[in-house]
Amino acid sequence: MSSSTGIVHLVGAGPGDLGLVTFRAKELISAADVLVYDYLVHPELVKWCRAECEVFYVGKKAGCHTVPQDEIEALLVTHAKAGKKVVRLKGGDPFIFGRGGEEARTLAKSGVAFEIVPGVTAALAAGAYAGIPLTLRNTSTALVFLTGHEDPTKTETQVNWRSYGALKNTTLAIYMGMGRLAFILDELMAGGLSATTPAAVVQWASLGRQRSVTGTVADLASRVEKAGLAAPAIIFIGEVVREHEAIDWFGQLPLFGRRVAITRTRDQNSELREKLEVLGAEVLELPLITISKDVDKYGFVEVLAELSGYDWIVFTSANGVRYFFEDFLKGYPDIRALGLLRFACIGRATAREIERHHIKVECMPDTATGASLADALIATGSLDHAKVIVVTGNLNRDKLVKKLEAGRAIVDRMQIYKTEKTDLTADPVADDFRQHGADAILFASSSAAESFHAQGDSLKLAPEARKPIVGSIGEQTTDSLTELGMPPDFVAEEPSLDDLLQSLIKALGSN
Ligand code: SAH
Repeated sequence: MSSSTGIVHLVGAGPGDLGLVTFRAKELISAADVLVYDYLVHPELVKWCRAECEVFYVGKKAGCHTVPQDEIEALLVTHAKAGKKVVRLKGGDPFIFGRGGEEARTLAKSGVAFEIVPGVTAALAAGAYAGIPLTLRNTSTALVFLTGHEDPTKTETQVNWRSYGALKNTTLAIYMGMGRLAFILDELMAGGLSATTPAAVVQWASLGRQRSVTGTVADLASRVEKAGLAAPAIIFIGEVVREHEAIDWFGQLPLFGRRVAITRTRDQNSELREKLEVLGAEVLELPLITISKDVDKYGFVEVLAELSGYDWIVFTSANGVRYFFEDFLKGYPDIRALGLLRFACIGRATAREIERHHIKVECMPDTATGASLADALIATGSLDHAKVIVVTGNLNRDKLVKKLEAGRAIVDRMQIYKTEKTDLTADPVADDFRQHGADAILFASSSAAESFHAQGDSLKLAPEARKPIVGSIGEQTTDSLTELGMPPDFVAEEPSLDDLLQSLIKALGSN
């Protein structure tokens, strides 16, 4: 690549919630050669990049800079000059208290091409998600963004707090002010701000772990201390804070304030996370298992060549269906090569995946277990000396196969994917789980239950951590959980994510 194609995109990542990331940001992350990101950028965003993308974490927490600013800037320039598409992701908006201005200045000076993509800044998110309008006709006609954290190399304070205390009909939104909250409030009062002016702190705005405290300028600091709120947070001062009580829509959601651990695999879609977040929950995603295609090539070719000689093909998971068709269609671009093969499966998600290919599922038991699938197949009366191929992963399905054989079928098993455990010792989410626990943990598959159990040692809760109640999506997962000594506290009425969530709300409500 020639150096003329190199570019740096300074991109706002929004306040935390994934839905508040712009389309442009997502597009750029997915195409980046190099990604440079910060503290307060949602880790999920990093998963949007291509496997080849080089990723740098240059995060800094207040007071401890992991990578000095000039080194970050040098990193951007070097890679752009090498012809790379560099995405520099910054929390919120890059031009609001994020040193984006300095980075843009350096890029301009170095003659590197760049683009700036705005983001939802923390104060806007905090206002929206805490039900505090930032302006309001008659009460607040101006909005001021301030920083409470100033250049530590300067001895004199640059923000003249007293002058802001003298403003009328104004909302103040203060970033990075938690370390000096009492001082700031005192200074504002010394400048003329009435001690009874409403004030609020909103921590982790837009995320499931959002918390807020309201009060007056006189008592906010002690209320915040009592509640234990800290950075990252926005401090709001002004009459508009009064609206919080009536329009705190986010705080009213059924799972607001609840921590829910889920156990999805790395490459499954994030449907469950999204559904939980819409209900207001804080989601801890424990990456327990990784599912990847792992086809026994020789066996697969042999089976394909003989496919029309089989009577039934049996699938036990949507992943199996997906991987099977990927390879099948590579070998045979015509679906009719399947001949009159009959399809059986467990689970509605698996059936849906089969039906996408306009193929009828002829046998699916009401309960999603391997044993009931075998029973259902036996009940069709078609198994005697029938040839059956069972498409599986590396772990499961002995019971299913044995039962089919007992039903006089001739069974071949074809492994097409593998399920692997993930190392959780250094995982930050796992660490959060160990330290603080959760209100509930949801299991949507047997293999997740098995891998959770297998990694028990690296997921052991600290003594003061909240002990979660256990939820299961359906019978098969319940069986596995029970076998593993973790019988579920609640089970979805039907094996679907929505039913699982309904049962969760019920279980937590009565908890
Ligand atoms: N460029 C960022 C601000 C970076 S300064 C933006 O536009 O939002 C970091 C400060 O932003 C934090 O100390 C805190 O005051 C605020 N902040 C960032 N994310 C936040 C969040 N989710 N909730 C509340 N405050 C947040």
